[in-house]
Amino acid sequence: MDFRIQGRTAVVCGASRGLGMACALALASEGAHVTLVARRAETLQAAADRIAEATGLRPAFVVADVGTAQGRAAVHASTSEADILVTNAGGPPARDFMDLTLEDWERALNVNFLSAVEMIQTFVPGMRTRRFGRIVNITSATARMPVERLDLSTSARLALTGYVAGVARQIAKDGVTINNLLPGTIMTERLIELGATADALIARVPAGRAGKPEEFGAACAFLCSEQAAFITGQNLLIDGGLCALTI
Ligand code: NAD
Repeated sequence: MDFRIQGRTAVVCGASRGLGMACALALASEGAHVTLVARRAETLQAAADRIAEATGLRPAFVVADVGTAQGRAAVHASTSEADILVTNAGGPPARDFMDLTLEDWERALNVNFLSAVEMIQTFVPGMRTRRFGRIVNITSATARMPVERLDLSTSARLALTGYVAGVARQIAKDGVTINNLLPGTIMTERLIELGATADALIARVPAGRAGKPEEFGAACAFLCSEQAAFITGQNLLIDGGLCALTI
């Protein structure tokens, strides 16, 4: 299927590796002009090289921490006219809920909730004017199923989920969609870094394996397609059946 986003411009946050990188690669494979965002130039350069090699399209990149207002301003300054926005950043630390400090909460809410809110608010006016926009937020399966020690993640993701549920309906008539992709046990560097814990997590997945980043990227590219114009305000689990839910 041709997703008909060739020539569209896309900003993908947290894109130097993992799920963000997979989304950027999938969008570039569909012919979109992608700008990668992450905190370090060297890793961004390496990601841009990989995408250029695979697709023939060299992404631009912006060095920025999306957890800061300054970082978000830098992103917008270089990519204000984007047709596609993928919000993403590293997940908050796993910690016993009794050990969480106010600083932990502020950081998690900044990085995994307010960063997306501010970027959506910044990019939506241009998208509405051009009557085309696709926003995909990478959240987490924790939004549907709490996991012990991941209370920061669950809470920050659900705040964003609630925001999207309201806002998506207010901009739907302008050709702008917002959806959330909820990963669970996808084999990114983050999962590999967990070592033995990762094996225990994978053992719980009904599909019997971890997900592949490219499977996640493909779902993102579809949600950004012309064909997905009538899908908005949704939360799509990409988790091999991990969250046992009826709807
Ligand atoms: P990852 O750690 O492999 O990659 C995160 C990317 O974001 C990296 O490129 C990193 O440099 C960048 N980044 C981190 N903080 C940033 C910031 N403040 N500003 C800009 N860039 C930043 O993680 P991943 O596995 O790709 O996961 C992406 C998101 O999905 C995370 O929020 C994670 O918690 C969530 N998630 C992933 C899984 C999974 O199975 N991989 C499961 C549940 C939730």
